[in-house]
Amino acid sequence: MTTSLVPSHLARNYHPLPVVLAGGENSWVRDTAGREYLDLLAGYSALNFGHRHPALVDAARAQLDRITLTSRAFEHDLLEPFATRLAALLELRDDDLVLPMNTGAEAVETAIKAARKWGHEVKGVPADRATIIVADGNFHGRTTTIISFSTDEEARAGFGPFTPGFRVVPYGDAEALAAAIDETTVAVLLEPIQGEAGVIIPEAGYLPAVRAACDAADVLLIADEVQSGLGRTGTTLACELVGVTPDVVVLGKALGGGVVPVSAVVGRQDVLGVLTAGTHGSTFGGNPLACAVALAVVGLLETGEHQARARELGAHLAERLGAMVTDGRLVEARCAGLWAGIDLDPRHGTGRQLSERLLERRVLTKDTHGQTLRLAPPLTIAQDDLDWALDQLGDALR
Ligand SMILES: *Cc1c(COP(=O)(O)O)cnc(C)c1O
Repeated sequence: MTTSLVPSHLARNYHPLPVVLAGGENSWVRDTAGREYLDLLAGYSALNFGHRHPALVDAARAQLDRITLTSRAFEHDLLEPFATRLAALLELRDDDLVLPMNTGAEAVETAIKAARKWGHEVKGVPADRATIIVADGNFHGRTTTIISFSTDEEARAGFGPFTPGFRVVPYGDAEALAAAIDETTVAVLLEPIQGEAGVIIPEAGYLPAVRAACDAADVLLIADEVQSGLGRTGTTLACELVGVTPDVVVLGKALGGGVVPVSAVVGRQDVLGVLTAGTHGSTFGGNPLACAVALAVVGLLETGEHQARARELGAHLAERLGAMVTDGRLVEARCAGLWAGIDLDPRHGTGRQLSERLLERRVLTKDTHGQTLRLAPPLTIAQDDLDWALDQLGDALR
């Protein structure tokens, strides 16, 4: 552990593992002393294609020589291609819209604003009465409005007064959700699989039942696929796993390939169409550099090879973690594609302590909520590397 005698100016809103990274290539990163580590967090799924994927770095580099920022006061030549190719990748309806932003939280905020305005202008909910249903255990970002409907006390405490207009129901309970819908409800906002909560996978019937409840009451289904989307679960979107088409999808993280922040809200024309000129925007949203990288990301996903790899390696990951559950080394393992939440027996310490032991074994992971560790390797990881990391995990749990 490195400690400094000089007080740091860096704000303490994170508690990182004691490693200082200076380089990275695909699944491997290097610290300032040249020691290499396998990255099983992958920027919380922002690095689905690994560190510095050649196609993404090339796209960014080429764009640096053209133009990087125009602001949306003017058009630029990659905006339309970005919208068109992202829409094709996601098999959007012909009149669906794509609204570019930068971070996940901003895109969630955009979806919330669009849903409320749609409710007031299109559905006919009285002014300022729109409510949105969310699930407990949710993670949608860190803005004042978003933490207003968090159920994580750490994320909320001290930050009030909170934004009203949200109703929290248990995650995975479609009946409770349907019962919470009333004439003020404009939308349901859910993660199809809860990432930050520890890769919580609802029953296969849950999202279809939520879809039906939304349809019955003219309520929008907004899927936050910031972490679950873009290949992680073995499909382009996690919603595909259960055959559900949301009205609005929120994307982020991997859309910028770990090179630049890029997010987007995509979906129904009558919903995103309420955001007319002057009602919403972003200085950096949809900038040329972001579009160049995001287009390259879309290019990687268009072939389907990364989704297929997430399925294949994910099946292998699930098998190996399942064996560690069977032999008692893990309490539970939840897997979707190349994404896993593993619960530890307290006799092995906390998630934080295990991530510290794995750091010593040159494997980077991150705990979430005490006894849980989240594994989200790059989809481009070599199977041998994944197996080596799982060997380290297995040994660290002996
Ligand atoms: C990370 C995340 C966000 C927030 O994204 P930021 O880019 O950190 O603002 C929103 N929703 C989900 C599901 C996430 O995992």
